[in-house]
Amino acid sequence: MLGLMQSQPLLISSLIDFAERHHGDAEIVSRRVEGDIHRYTWQGVARRARQAANALDGMGLLLSDRVATLAWNGYRHLELYFGVSGSGRVLHTINPRLHPDQIAWIANHAEDQVLCFDLTFLPLIQAIQARCPTIRQYVALCDADKLPQDSGVPNLISYESWIGGQPTTYQWPTFDENSASSMCYTSGTTGNPKAALYSHRSTILHAYAAALPDVMCVSARDSILPVVPMFHVNAWGIPYSAALCGAKLVFPGPAMDGKSVYELIEAEKVSYAAGVPTVWQMMLTHMKPNNLRFSALKRTVIGGSACPPAMIQAFQEDYGVEVLHAWGMTEMSPLGTLCTLKNKHLELPTEEQMKIRLKQGRAIYGVDMKIVGEDGQEVPWDGKTPGDLYVKGPWVVREYFKGEGGDPLVDGWFPTGDVASIDPDGYMQITDRSKDVIKSGGEWISSIEVENIAVAHPAVLMAACIGMKHPKWDERPVIAVVKKPGAEVTREELLKFYEGKTAKWQIPDDVVFVDAIPLGATGKMLKTRLREMLKDYKLPT
Ligand code: AMP
Repeated sequence: MLGLMQSQPLLISSLIDFAERHHGDAEIVSRRVEGDIHRYTWQGVARRARQAANALDGMGLLLSDRVATLAWNGYRHLELYFGVSGSGRVLHTINPRLHPDQIAWIANHAEDQVLCFDLTFLPLIQAIQARCPTIRQYVALCDADKLPQDSGVPNLISYESWIGGQPTTYQWPTFDENSASSMCYTSGTTGNPKAALYSHRSTILHAYAAALPDVMCVSARDSILPVVPMFHVNAWGIPYSAALCGAKLVFPGPAMDGKSVYELIEAEKVSYAAGVPTVWQMMLTHMKPNNLRFSALKRTVIGGSACPPAMIQAFQEDYGVEVLHAWGMTEMSPLGTLCTLKNKHLELPTEEQMKIRLKQGRAIYGVDMKIVGEDGQEVPWDGKTPGDLYVKGPWVVREYFKGEGGDPLVDGWFPTGDVASIDPDGYMQITDRSKDVIKSGGEWISSIEVENIAVAHPAVLMAACIGMKHPKWDERPVIAVVKKPGAEVTREELLKFYEGKTAKWQIPDDVVFVDAIPLGATGKMLKTRLREMLKDYKLPT
């Protein structure tokens, strides 16, 4: 017997309709590429998203055709999130930090038909346009009078001219909720990039889950600053969750330096911000010497890479801001776990709470996890035994776009490539990417743990730990360190700093000071490149 409730497909258009009708006056504030601040409301987003949808119809785009963006976090990008997907096309957000050859490859693989870009990326467009035959319309996200003349880019129009003359009314189409809504290519550190293809259903379920109090805790009373880019995994789904709750959104545009982000947080009374650790590192580095405080910021979600304890401490103890450590990946839309304390933890001393907060957190309803040992068997949830982390759920990838890479699942589970332990309360802690695990004397050393201790030293800005071949122990950890500007620390001082903070055999054998640690397109440390940089390095004997 079937239930007798209404059956409505879960479609992204319903989010923007809801935000307009029930939270029409909630603000959307953006720092523009031009440097000024733009502000309007969800009502404006909805109106202009419908105009964008009409523009796509006018071009004769079919359902599921791809519309690409190369853009910062901003209001026009937000309109495309709803206008493109809402009208049944697929929004393909491209990461502008990728190499132009990779961008051209991706645009061809996705068969993008339209590419909308911020003017910052005009040189990129000029570099790739001759190699992208499927793109028939380039749209510069700018006013008509800012459109560059003689750019050499064919079929180029300004966004404002493109949508300007279009009707502000539009009948969003109804279709299968499993239809594709957006796509994001993984960074492709090995082989060609592969695309996760999200659906309307997976996006809405993820948006619901992400908004829950034990997850990102989003509400209509929030002013949210997603520093996490809209070109990478849909800014962790925040645009959708914000529409679902009617929250105010604040976009940083291209200005992601510590000073600009701090000023925006203060000016717009941001209560909640989300980003990767490197962004927050820049902001804290700006705040401390200037004795700055937050007047409204209450919590920040930090993920994408392990959040060092020193950062959690600084936010909480120095600034009274709660840090929610999150873990996920492109293939998971992206949220998998988020770290909030349970009731029974509230009585614990701060240091004990900190040990929990450091973990990547508990599974969100909708995501199931398991950890598996080398023999393929599940390992216990004892908070110690590491294993390969597998996930499944309705917003986890089943297959990559065009079947690239074959069937990624193992018995219905997606192998994340991360190594983790899970404690009896279900808190998961990542110890490494499986390819970065350091094996020393038959034991595993967590590079994240070694790095966390280094960055707790006041003179250390960034640290990356890699395993180096060792004749006796197989591998030994070495820590590459970038010092803070003007700060000093010696190799011996740093190694001494490890004493008492970790087991003796987990202390690195050596410290290598470097000017910078190579970062990938999504801000993660590129250990492959670091290993290349240090290929002539020899462990001290
Ligand atoms: P991406 O698909 O580019 O977003 O990268 C996903 C990967 O980033 C994960 O598989 C993890 O290796 C890493 N990652 C994401 N969040 C965290 C976190 N909180 N701690 C440690 N690693 C993380």
